[in-house]
Amino acid sequence: MSRVKLVVANWKMYLSVHESSLLVNRLNKTVKVHRGVEVVLSPSYLSLQPISQEIDRRKFRLAAQDGYFIDEGAYTGAVSLSQMRDLVHYAIIGHSERRRYFHESLDEVRDKVAAAVRNGIVPILCVGETKEERAQRETKQVLHDQVVTALANLTSQDVENIVIAYEPVWAIGADQPAPPDAIAEAISWIRFQVRELYGQATEEAVRLLYGGSDEPEYVAAIMEVNGVDGLLVGRASLNYERFSDIVTGVHLAALSESKVE
Ligand code: PEP
Repeated sequence: MSRVKLVVANWKMYLSVHESSLLVNRLNKTVKVHRGVEVVLSPSYLSLQPISQEIDRRKFRLAAQDGYFIDEGAYTGAVSLSQMRDLVHYAIIGHSERRRYFHESLDEVRDKVAAAVRNGIVPILCVGETKEERAQRETKQVLHDQVVTALANLTSQDVENIVIAYEPVWAIGADQPAPPDAIAEAISWIRFQVRELYGQATEEAVRLLYGGSDEPEYVAAIMEVNGVDGLLVGRASLNYERFSDIVTGVHLAALSESKVE
């Protein structure tokens, strides 16, 4: 089954507005338009508006890195998904750094996913186990709980359009990505959960990404894993050459997949 590939650049809390513009400028020149590969940039809230005027729209879409689940109200300091609805196509929800440093609970992640869908934004739901959970052989339970709770308020049609990123916490900011067999096991388990809840058609439509220490040299092996539709990239996305090489790698993987089909 051929789904449109997706590469998401998560710039996290890096880059000033000016630095973000410089990077966009470089990316506009370096990244090529590839049919069948969608490329998404996720700068800080502060840079979303200026960057929306600067991106080459044939090449890039924008994502928020988070968003509050209540649409408006007296919530000082928060930015709601509703406020960003005209600015972004996607929103990263439940990144492990939000779960860890901002204590986001399973229920909060569920409410954010629902708020994104309600506001016409495609959630990129991040799930993944910590090193300790992996050591305790709790990976499947953790992924089950994160996926089942986050999708609780959605219809099968909603779920067909969302994106789920498997990001093992132990592979984020590490020396190398998770081994392909670990990625394969988690991806097929997540797909199984979606199939159990929503049926085969939904499972075949939903896009799944891998995230964690993606670098150009690892792209081919990761993209060969059955059921992986793209990458969520942290550090390497701050460097236009490495990120552009990653996009090219995903494009080459898409090409070889279409030849096999
Ligand atoms: C991430 O935090 O989503 C991520 C994938 O980071 P890195 O690529 O730096 O491991």
